[in-house]
Amino acid sequence: MEKRTFVTLEQVKKMAEKYPTPFHLYDEKGIRENARLLKKAFSWNKGYREYFAVKATPNPYIMQILKEEGIGADCSSYTELLLSEKVGLKGADIMFSSNVTPAEDFALASKLDAIINFDDITHIDFYEKIAEFKETMCCRYNPGGDFMIQNQIMDTPNDAKYGMTKQQLKEAFSKLRDKGVKHFGIHAFLASNTVTEEYYPKLAKILFKTAVEIKNETGVHISFINLSGGVGIAYRPDQKPNDIMLIGEGVREAFEEVLVPAGMEDVSIYTELGRFMLAPYGCLVAKAIHEKHIYKEYIGLDACATNLMRPAMYGSYHHITVLGKENALCDHKYDVTGGLCENNDKFAIDRMLPKIDIGDYLVIHDTGAHGFAMGYNYNGKLRSAEILLKENGETVQIRRAETPEDYFATLDLEQFPLKG
Ligand SMILES: *Cc1c(COP(=O)(O)O)cnc(C)c1O
Repeated sequence: MEKRTFVTLEQVKKMAEKYPTPFHLYDEKGIRENARLLKKAFSWNKGYREYFAVKATPNPYIMQILKEEGIGADCSSYTELLLSEKVGLKGADIMFSSNVTPAEDFALASKLDAIINFDDITHIDFYEKIAEFKETMCCRYNPGGDFMIQNQIMDTPNDAKYGMTKQQLKEAFSKLRDKGVKHFGIHAFLASNTVTEEYYPKLAKILFKTAVEIKNETGVHISFINLSGGVGIAYRPDQKPNDIMLIGEGVREAFEEVLVPAGMEDVSIYTELGRFMLAPYGCLVAKAIHEKHIYKEYIGLDACATNLMRPAMYGSYHHITVLGKENALCDHKYDVTGGLCENNDKFAIDRMLPKIDIGDYLVIHDTGAHGFAMGYNYNGKLRSAEILLKENGETVQIRRAETPEDYFATLDLEQFPLKG
């Protein structure tokens, strides 16, 4: 499938007058339409709720848009909880799915009345010293082994640090019940960026069966099943995007098959999607500032891996469009790079693109999730701005770019002057 940008060259030229490149740009219209479709896909489940994985795009203005669509927040750290509080989310609007959790994080989650999802059985005793148990609490499950779909290994939970074994899950629920907890959730995240409609239904079936088993053995009330994140997107033009309606239908079938006969039709389905909610509705806009002809052909951008780490870190594919040359022949082979002193700072390697000229604007696709969020300051590079393209076509800056002053803000050079 052809991948199109959600902005035109004309729009970007106007934006660049106000906001220098590089910047991350988000598409409000796309975000809202997708959020509504997700809700529709799970509308068969009365208690359904999506908790947006804040780590994917930790910007309160984006969280605000999602909140207006009825979406809560999935947090895993102190500052993510603070972000959610700023947006006015609290109580059951927040899922706290952390691991290796510091005491102060549990304390804040408890203060906000977030639904706490224990990653480990030992966290129950740890938590008891810090805060009160709530009426509703959740535990994270790790079934171990390999997670297979149609004889293909999707991921290996056996090697993942998250969650508890089934035996521990049962013990944890009994323990929590003895401490006064009344309603329970089960959570699991078994594979990331799955581009198949089978992931959620398969995961749901595992969790539904586990829920029935636990209910029968311990008698506790399971009030929700949290399918967490992991529904992927088509980063490559040859991939077929997930059909969320089919995914919702697949989960419904598992629900009818496993939970309904067990008298558990009151169970709510929760999701904690990050990538699926945002990735396609954000892009990194950068400018070609250098070209270089040695053993290979290079195009150097004003953006680098500190703006988008995925290609450098995982070798991930991100599609690139040269704005204004959408219909030109892709007859040039380039490495598209940033300026870090790191040879893995390449957005694309041996990519066939139209001839690129200095000053051309490039759109790097699908950076709306795990894009800006994974930014860092290596080589003294500063984080870019984040811009929102509103539904009416206007743009607003929802985070300014860092300045050198921000870089120096954590150094107290006045109190501790440098010698000489
Ligand atoms: C990362 C994460 C998510 C979101 O994952 P996506 O792949 O972005 O959907 C959800 N829940 C937890 C606990 C996570 O760590």
